[in-house]
Amino acid sequence: MKVLKFGGTSVGSASRMKDVAKLICDGQQKIVVLSAMSGTTNTLVEIADYLYKKNPVSASEVINTLEHKYQAVIDELYSKDATKKQAADTLKTNFDLLRSFTKNDFFTLFEEKTILAQGELMSTAMVNLYLLEQGVKSALLPALDYMRIDKNNEPDAAFIREHIKKELAKLPKDTVIYITQGYICRNAYNEIDNLQRGGSDYTASLVGAAVKADEIQIWTDIDGMHNNDPRVVENTKPVANLHFEEAAEMAYFGAKILHPTCILPAKLEGIPVRLLDTMNPKAAGTLISNQLTKHKIEAVAAKDNITAIKIKSGRMLLAYGFLRKVFECFENYKTPIDMITTSEVGVSVTIDNTKNIEEIVNELKKFGTVTVENDMVIICVVGDMDSMNVGFQAKIVGALKEIPIRMISYGGSNYNVSFLVRKEDKKAALQALSQTLFN
Ligand code: ADP
Ligand code: ASP
Ligand code: MG
Repeated sequence: MKVLKFGGTSVGSASRMKDVAKLICDGQQKIVVLSAMSGTTNTLVEIADYLYKKNPVSASEVINTLEHKYQAVIDELYSKDATKKQAADTLKTNFDLLRSFTKNDFFTLFEEKTILAQGELMSTAMVNLYLLEQGVKSALLPALDYMRIDKNNEPDAAFIREHIKKELAKLPKDTVIYITQGYICRNAYNEIDNLQRGGSDYTASLVGAAVKADEIQIWTDIDGMHNNDPRVVENTKPVANLHFEEAAEMAYFGAKILHPTCILPAKLEGIPVRLLDTMNPKAAGTLISNQLTKHKIEAVAAKDNITAIKIKSGRMLLAYGFLRKVFECFENYKTPIDMITTSEVGVSVTIDNTKNIEEIVNELKKFGTVTVENDMVIICVVGDMDSMNVGFQAKIVGALKEIPIRMISYGGSNYNVSFLVRKEDKKAALQALSQTLFN
């Protein structure tokens, strides 16, 4: 069985939903993961924001506008009045729920997460109804009944595997298309939660791993993973093949086409992931698998909003235990470190989660002089970076000869070289790398 995920743009209008239906109806049984219609999750975030700010009037206005948009989609999507009514009745429960929060005095993270879940609940209900109207044997596979994260907000793979099988078994045997929600899940306390923004890709990979799919397909609005960020650099090209590790580095270091952690479940089960374009379904896209293209630099990505922290200590010289103490500060505040460089007199690390930066810096000051730099960007070059590929590093560093580089990291994996640069140098750095490495 294949698992196919369609992102927000791919289900962003009635006609796009019809296109998706055409793409998935080839008679083969499959699980289809859908995002919310594009823009919806942002709108739900806006609604929650107004409610946090105790402004139910503005929240209601945004809810009304969103509802009108959905009513128009219903009118266009279905041909039968009975189906239109059924869709309107279904969505009314979602909008009634949203409105109920404007009447409460309190608003917490729990209510916010329930609000954020409505987008995927609506898009899946709509596409499922459309397929049924078209006479397709389609059924909803409710993500809230099988997708779960644990106390550390990590997916609970055993739970997911067990419960998705149970939920699939409950549905009619002749079901051809199982439609499920991306992004949403329950947490360890059985509350509605989510896999973070962009998390529908993660759902697809987790579902694929749970059912041991033959292939996971991520359908989006571009013809595969490009060799540089198409939002910043012109003339980027799709990469035909990527190794799991290369794709994971790209996703983690900012290639928005994939959720940062979504490659891991597929990699663990050895399930190939194909990135495909809904607007151009014949395009080859990108195949992510265990296959490494040797001696090749594949692509470049950039991760924004990075903070660099330098801890300098005369006492680090010949000392042991210094790095442990430094890393413990980050561990105590559950703050992951992205890049590290060390010398005899100090260590520089980067983080992207600055929620606890004040506390971390205060603790670090016990061990040395601490400097913090905000607005930095990690530039990550991905490919076969085996040290025997002599000259690769020289070529990459050479491309950046005009750019001030704050940190360089190489040798942590065989698949990347990373640089820390200032935000204002990001575009020039990405362009220079594309020019030297791919043109
Ligand atoms: P979806 O809504 O389908 O999940 P996303 O907007 O999350 O789609 O991801 C697709 C977008 O990722 C593309 O439109 C593109 O602008 C952006 N993107 C950033 N880096 C890359 C890259 N290296 N290759 C392809 N797309 C990229
Ligand atoms: N709808 C969610 C978001 O916009 C999840 C996703 O699209 O992947 O972040
Ligand atoms: Mg996405």
